[in-house]
Amino acid sequence: MNRFRVLIASLLIIITNLGFAQNEVIEVEGPPPKLTGLKAEAAQLVGDNQKLTQEIVDSLFSFSELGFQEFETQRYLTEILEENGFTVEHGVSGIPSAWWATWGSGKPVIALGSDVDGIPKSSQTPGVAYRKPLIEGAPGHGEGHNSGQAVNITAALAVKEIMERDNLPGTLVLWPGIAEELVATKAWFARDGRYDGVDAVLFTHVSDTMSVSWGQATGTGLVSVEYTFDGVAAHGAGDPWKGKSALDAVELTNIGWNFRREHLHPLQRSHYVIVDGGDQPNVVPSKASVWYFIREMTAEKIRENFAILQTIAEGAAMMTDTSVSRRIIGAAYPRHFNKPIAEAMYENIRAVGMPEWSEDDQAFAHAFQEYMEADEVVGLNTEIEELQAPLEEPKSGGSDDIGDVSWNVPTVTLRFPSNIDGSTGHHWSSANAMATPIAHKGATAGAKVVAATMLDLIQQESLVDNAWTYFRDEQSANETYVSFVGETDNPAIEKNAEIMNAYKDRLKDYYYDPSKYDTYLEQLGIDYPQLKDPDAE
Ligand SMILES: [Zn+2]
Repeated sequence: MNRFRVLIASLLIIITNLGFAQNEVIEVEGPPPKLTGLKAEAAQLVGDNQKLTQEIVDSLFSFSELGFQEFETQRYLTEILEENGFTVEHGVSGIPSAWWATWGSGKPVIALGSDVDGIPKSSQTPGVAYRKPLIEGAPGHGEGHNSGQAVNITAALAVKEIMERDNLPGTLVLWPGIAEELVATKAWFARDGRYDGVDAVLFTHVSDTMSVSWGQATGTGLVSVEYTFDGVAAHGAGDPWKGKSALDAVELTNIGWNFRREHLHPLQRSHYVIVDGGDQPNVVPSKASVWYFIREMTAEKIRENFAILQTIAEGAAMMTDTSVSRRIIGAAYPRHFNKPIAEAMYENIRAVGMPEWSEDDQAFAHAFQEYMEADEVVGLNTEIEELQAPLEEPKSGGSDDIGDVSWNVPTVTLRFPSNIDGSTGHHWSSANAMATPIAHKGATAGAKVVAATMLDLIQQESLVDNAWTYFRDEQSANETYVSFVGETDNPAIEKNAEIMNAYKDRLKDYYYDPSKYDTYLEQLGIDYPQLKDPDAE
């Protein structure tokens, strides 16, 4: 509360300019006093709802669902939203695990999004500072995507309560990033007009600190494409001359691409997995598939590299007398975040600040960083980051299909502090903290920031106007969004089904039951923080 008092106080500060006569004063501009009060109230409501935040974080962690298979997650979250008066549509854009929840009416329309999918093979016991899978080989939340919906829902419920009481107009929309790890849905949501009429998107993503940025983000955009080659089977030893190997075509594509890499710009990133390499060695593979991510810094560069890959795949088909077809699996535009909304959100980050970590939290982080042989063993971050302007030198890295959303409507991403610095991305080490008090406190802090920024948008029409002016006149001044996804590209909803089917029954034994246990750590019998592996030497 103190920080909010400071805000109120700063609002009332009157600066006496020494150059003027003593009784001449200049009032410092700031948010209207009512808004400041509402933000303090929203923070209080979010704080009062910490139990729900913790239950959502822990539940999604325990479901451990991969992209396109987030069905338990969908059931659980949409039940909470329906109980709280939201209208929920299931299976939007032809994606069975997707959903869209709305409440309220009129302007502004504020849409809160966050990803919900996990990472293969990253099953991990939370609250222990070492490697210990819950289920060997199973999926887990090795990206921390179990926490963002807790942020959004807690924030939305707090703001909804205030809107109802004060009769404030506005529409709240909650939506999930389905299969974000495949960057495989948000461009489809955009294509299908899901963001039409939305005034602003506040997106949330887990981090080890609290930050927001504007302009082009660090990282790349990408096209995700699968090439399938069709050949002719034959006995591998009896009459191989009759065969036309689809696997040869896959390998030649990869060889071609890997030679070409040297002559691509160093900021590009590209990688592939062989999805289907044939059945057994003594049958010439008649079918084979390879799945590529082609990443670059601009949409134009992504298109150029995609065209090179297309030529190489066609060349490989010619060399092997096979035929080739392709399917767009995913797409992510390079992200561009909105300046006015980022600036407003940053003021709220400053007001809320970082969570107060306990000694146990810090001991856990230290032990974990030591185990991970992190560059710096410094524990949890205690300071927020500065507002991040676009980098002068663009920096390559990962992608997020929120990029496509950011080219359809003014968008920002709040990075909230639910994880520990020193973990490896897309890896079990990014799951250790994700059902501990660290994740819970980080999500609550994030929810306070989101709620305050929603109130900024609801109470200050000028913020929405400025956001759109920036979107039209600056962001879009020299660039037009042309989606990588066409009208006939269907979402790859079958992805990950096999893996989830293999593990689902065993995962069910580990689902969190909030009616019996206060926390998931309690259910698992973990004495947090468990710093050393009792079975280790
Ligand atoms: Zn992510």
